[in-house]
Order: sequence, then structure tokens, then C-alpha cells
Amino acid sequence: MTTDRTDQADQSDREDQGGALSAEAAEVRRFWGRLGLPGLIDVHTHFMPEQVLRKVWAYFDAMGPLTGGVEWPIGYRQEEAERAAVLREFGVRAFTAMLYPHKPGMARWLNEWAVGFARRTPDCLHTATLFPEPGVEAYVREAVEAGARVFKAHVQVGGYHPADELLEPAWGLLAEAGVPVVIHCGSGPAPGKHTGPEPIARVLARHPRLRLIVAHLGMPEYAEFLDLAEEYDELRLDTTMAFTDFAERLMPFPRPDLPRLAALGDRVLLGSDFPNIPYPYLHQLQALERLGLGDDWLRAVCHDNAAELFTDQQ
Ligand SMILES: [Zn+2]
Repeated sequence: MTTDRTDQADQSDREDQGGALSAEAAEVRRFWGRLGLPGLIDVHTHFMPEQVLRKVWAYFDAMGPLTGGVEWPIGYRQEEAERAAVLREFGVRAFTAMLYPHKPGMARWLNEWAVGFARRTPDCLHTATLFPEPGVEAYVREAVEAGARVFKAHVQVGGYHPADELLEPAWGLLAEAGVPVVIHCGSGPAPGKHTGPEPIARVLARHPRLRLIVAHLGMPEYAEFLDLAEEYDELRLDTTMAFTDFAERLMPFPRPDLPRLAALGDRVLLGSDFPNIPYPYLHQLQALERLGLGDDWLRAVCHDNAAELFTDQQ
């Protein structure tokens, strides 16, 4: 039971939060408005069944080992519809529902949820996921046929080798369909058994046209994933958390490699990790801006590259 006092406190907390959010939204809009963009496209935002998301948040709250033992206060804990509304306030024109299984038998159920989410959230790019398990080819095919625009794979949380034989037909199918896969495969914030560039190099050797989007710029193996991007034309990178104060403290981007990132400007895509971020959304944008790679680079990364990639698919 709550007392009137705490009700009032909750109410005023919500009002404070609402005020801070609209101030932030104005700043975010100023950011893309100045660039002359129609808004942002964010390829890395998390929407998943509420009970799964609560577990993820509890994990971050408890600083579970995969967070790298770092304090990680989640920034945006609103209900699902409110979270989507926040993105719209920010002027995010399209976003994703990055969901991922940590064990077999879960992906198909997540994909079913994602169909409903995409239906009730038309600005979300219909997202699906996969896991090395019997039946993966069938449910990946079903998801593609149902209109999935992007997949998410999480090598660290899933604890699998991305070149696992069971995934072979699924990678082949996705490569052929040209459906991008955002893949968390770098060893940040903490390494997994099969994270790092080498397992991904094996996948790409077999499927050179597979449209992998390496999440977090491959943090902390930035240079090695840039090597792969230079070798494979369809490899892309998302900016999720990269260059923020938070990430730079833990896993700084090697400054000498900045010109390589500039040169790959047509294959870098804005990602944020919203809502699971320990800082304001705006900070991700400012972190990109302060790199000094110029407005053309920012326009491409924050909107145009993703617009082209996802239009290209249709
Ligand atoms: Zn993420």
C-alpha cells in the first residue's frame, strides 16, 4: 500500500522526468534539424516481451557478469508504449526491437511476440532473432516471409559459435534475402566464449554477402572489425554506445583508426541501445558529433545509410 505522500512524490517524480524528457527531446530534434535531416533512424533499440525486459533490467541492476561488473543504471524505464513514444518525441523515424534468446527453444516464441509488436508499432522495423538449434532454418524462413526486416543475434549472451553448423542454412537464407543481422559479437562489455572477430571471419568466409551489422562497432575489438569491414563490402557497423563517456572510459576507440571509420562512413549506422543506457540518448549523438568527422558523415550515419539499406530491401 502506498500513502498519499508517496503518491504525491511519485507524481512529482513523473513530472520532473517528463520535463527533463521534453527538454532532451528538444535538444535531440535540434541535433538532426541542424543537419537538415527528416529525423533519425536507430538500428539498435531494445523492445522485447515485458517479462524478458524486466529480467534484463534486473540483470543490469545487479551488475551481472556480462555487464563487465560496471554500474549500469537503466535510463528509460517507462512502459512499452511510452518508450516508443519517447523515441517518436526524439524524432526517431524508424527503430528496431532487438530481442535475443539466451537458450534454445526461445527464439521462435520471441519472433512470434515481435510480429505483434511490429504490427502495433508501425515505425518499428519488424525484427526477428535466431539461435543454433534444430528448426532454426524453418523459423528464420517464416520470419522473413512474415516480413522481418532485420535480425538480431547475440553471441555473448547466447554463448554460441556464430559459425555453428546449425546456423549455416539460416545465414545462407538471410544472405540471399539481403536481410541485415545486427550481431553483438565483440568482447565488450565482457568477453563471451565465442566473441571477437575470428568467429565472424569464419561466417563471412562462407557467406561473404551476408549483411552483418556489427553492434557497438565491435567494441573493444574495433580495429579488427574495421579490418573485416574493409574486406567485406556488405559488413556494416552500428555506433551503439561507442564514443560515449561511459564506453570511452572502459573501452576507448583507438584514435589512429578514426580515418578508417570516416572512410567507411556509408556503412556506419546509428545505434543507441535505448532504453538500456546509463546516460541520456542525446549523449550518444553528441558523442558522434564531437568526433569531428563532419556533417556529411553524421547525416549518413544518423539517417541516410539506414534509410538506403532498409529501402533497398523492399
Ligand atoms: Zn543492445
